Amino acid sequence: MPKTRMPVLFVGHGNPMNAIEDNEFSLAWSEAAKALPMPKAILCISAHWETAGTKITAMDKPKTIHDFYGFPRELFAVEYPAAGSPDLVQIVRKAIKMTEVQPDMEWGLDHGTWSVLKRMFPLADVPVVQLSLDRTQPFEYHYQLGKQLKKLRDEDVLILGSGNLVHNLRTVVFDDVAFDWAVDFDKRVSQWIMEDDHDPIIHYEKQGQSALLSVNSGEHYLPLLYTLGLKESGEPVSFFADKVWGGSLSMRSFRIG
Ligand code: ZN
Repeated sequence: MPKTRMPVLFVGHGNPMNAIEDNEFSLAWSEAAKALPMPKAILCISAHWETAGTKITAMDKPKTIHDFYGFPRELFAVEYPAAGSPDLVQIVRKAIKMTEVQPDMEWGLDHGTWSVLKRMFPLADVPVVQLSLDRTQPFEYHYQLGKQLKKLRDEDVLILGSGNLVHNLRTVVFDDVAFDWAVDFDKRVSQWIMEDDHDPIIHYEKQGQSALLSVNSGEHYLPLLYTLGLKESGEPVSFFADKVWGGSLSMRSFRIG
């Protein structure tokens, strides 16, 4: 009998305060998690771990990293004590053929991971492993790497991409507004996702000024490419928290499968 295939998630994480504030986004994340089968482990690709080479957190007890400044003390006090998973590390290292994934004992769980998981799995009772973004590689590489992780879905592993489809901090205003160019690119990408047309998403640089402003420094966009690489053609996609906030942050999140 075929096993159940675990859905894949992309979450637009935005402001780290979503970890501790009840708002339309954090509530939508928590609802999305309730609808999932219980995973055995979580593999998170966060915007906030950029490296040379692809690395994976290999410690038994990853620390909670408070990788931001200027936020309330309350946010620095948040701990997310999920265990690591040496088993999952082995599975991932074996699955990825296009590069040698390097085990890492220094990183931990950054806020791209824990600000979302705090809402989705508040008990921190599912082991969590992070995979880094190799910034020496082109965007296509990240999409292909995602494809190599497909079989994890058959092993009860939840793969979570945590970034933002539109992310430009130079233009952000911490208010409930949306710039036209951000809405434009957010809508175009969601249309391409629905049509299984990934090429224009990977090659965003050919999509005009709104794309360049939206992808900007790229680190929040790359986790999206992993999740799309994991999608089978024709598999259903459901969007949640799909709104541009702060002028230039798309909170659009989705579930594949
Ligand atoms: Zn971020």
